[in-house]
Amino acid sequence: MAEAWQQDIKDALTDPGELAERFNLDPQTLAPVVDTYPLRISRSVLELIEAPGDPIWRQFVPDPRELEEGGLVDPLGEENLSPVPSVVHRYPDRALFLVSGSCASYCRFCTRKRRVGCAGSAPSFRELREGIDYIATTPQIRDVLFSGGDPLLLPDAILGDLLNRIQRIAHVEIIRIGSRVPLTLPGRITPQLCQLLKKFAPLYLNTHFNHPRELTPEAIAACNLLADHGIVLGNQTVLLKGVNDDPAIIQELFFKLLKMRVRPYYLHQMDLVRGGEHFRTPLSAGLEIMASLRGTLSGLASPHYVIDLPGGKGKVPLLPDAISQRNGTLQVRAASGEMVEYPEISVSQRHAE
Ligand SMILES: *Cc1c(COP(=O)(O)O)cnc(C)c1O
Ligand code: SF4
Repeated sequence: MAEAWQQDIKDALTDPGELAERFNLDPQTLAPVVDTYPLRISRSVLELIEAPGDPIWRQFVPDPRELEEGGLVDPLGEENLSPVPSVVHRYPDRALFLVSGSCASYCRFCTRKRRVGCAGSAPSFRELREGIDYIATTPQIRDVLFSGGDPLLLPDAILGDLLNRIQRIAHVEIIRIGSRVPLTLPGRITPQLCQLLKKFAPLYLNTHFNHPRELTPEAIAACNLLADHGIVLGNQTVLLKGVNDDPAIIQELFFKLLKMRVRPYYLHQMDLVRGGEHFRTPLSAGLEIMASLRGTLSGLASPHYVIDLPGGKGKVPLLPDAISQRNGTLQVRAASGEMVEYPEISVSQRHAE
């Protein structure tokens, strides 16, 4: 028997005609975008849209600018880092396991636009088995991140089977799941799912909220249920032009996340993905936001601001400059902006013992 959330996926908006009618858009300009990058907006997300152009609309409603030529099809060079199609192995001790090809709603800025939701993107059983075999025969990997697509779109039985097979690998010590369903399909977070996930501790679940309006009572309840089952929650936010590139919005988002037991983990600079260039902000916007968090929010609510370098060179945390030299003394910028002299110990003293 299908579960309620599976019916919710079937009920999602996927027809460009319906979208055009609802928001008075031109179906002619929508069609080519949707032919290239699929459309799916769950009813929960659709209800959150208050007006065209608002922060939820921008994230999920297709835009003709997605067909512009700039950017990179595979911005993080993942295809070159895939020993088998279902694994991305960039850092020695951890790897992504791409277990699902679809999501409950498609984010227009997705870094894996080239494949997520597209025909043939769902990994086959053979590809999943190859992924498990690769992880099992690569002893450096101790941390496996279930990703996709959205892993929580798999039915409990298949998800549980994959988690079991990964947990049984002796050198795998930590499992993580990346999922946006607490926002896009909160009904997926059932007590049965939480009971299942609980068995795989230490299990981290990183979710993806970008705007305080996404913290609906249903999303909060979903996160509460996960946290009550011992699942450690983190959040990854993508910095998006016209959505959340504003210190006040980010501060509100991060504080409210902390209050619902979801720790802000990363603030991602928008990747150079083709079709997502209209979401890019300058790095200075992110640095300004990070500077604004200092002194305003607890360290518990302050994530790393990271740029994931093109070509698979990896994530690099960026920080606003806090240190400068003046008249031979070291100055550190306080949260207020004031430069405070700091009595630095010299390198020769440090090595004098
Ligand atoms: C981001 C990422 C990870 C996980 O990185 P953490 O900093 O440990 O969260 C692992 N593999 C790939 C390919 C990634 O892009
Ligand atoms: S939920 Fe994640 S993987 Fe799915 S479309 Fe959004 S950003 Fe991409």
